[in-house]
Amino acid sequence: MPDVRNCRKCGKIFSYIGGVPICPSCRQQEEEIFKKIKDYLYENPGASVTEVSRELDVSIELIKRFLREGRLEIVGEEGKNLLLECENCGRAINSGRYCKDCERELLKGFQTAANKISQKISDNQTGSSATKMRYLHKLDYKRREEE
Ligand SMILES: [Zn+2]
Ligand SMILES: [Zn+2]
Repeated sequence: MPDVRNCRKCGKIFSYIGGVPICPSCRQQEEEIFKKIKDYLYENPGASVTEVSRELDVSIELIKRFLREGRLEIVGEEGKNLLLECENCGRAINSGRYCKDCERELLKGFQTAANKISQKISDNQTGSSATKMRYLHKLDYKRREEE
């Protein structure tokens, strides 16, 4: 039995293959929009989100999502736009979630945290073996999504 779902965007029933429950035609539509934005930004470097949104009839949310995902990048000097800001310090960025400075800081933080974790793991290995892991099965994942 194929797994069928209602598309999150249009509500149509489709056979689900994983990831965000969006039907193939809506996914295709998003790709088309993505291409349109890319072309528009190429021809109009430095265009504002409102301009792109108005000219292409695309929601600002979707544009921002592409930017956050790093699929789109704002053309022009970093720190000069009002489209996207660093989630950490609020400085204007061209793509992604953080500015370069915060990214560097966060990376350092991640590395420190990762070092601590690996330290912990090796402590556990020499000490107790009580730390249990569980493989997150796709079925469990789906079930939780449905709740
Ligand atoms: Zn759909
Ligand atoms: Zn920042």
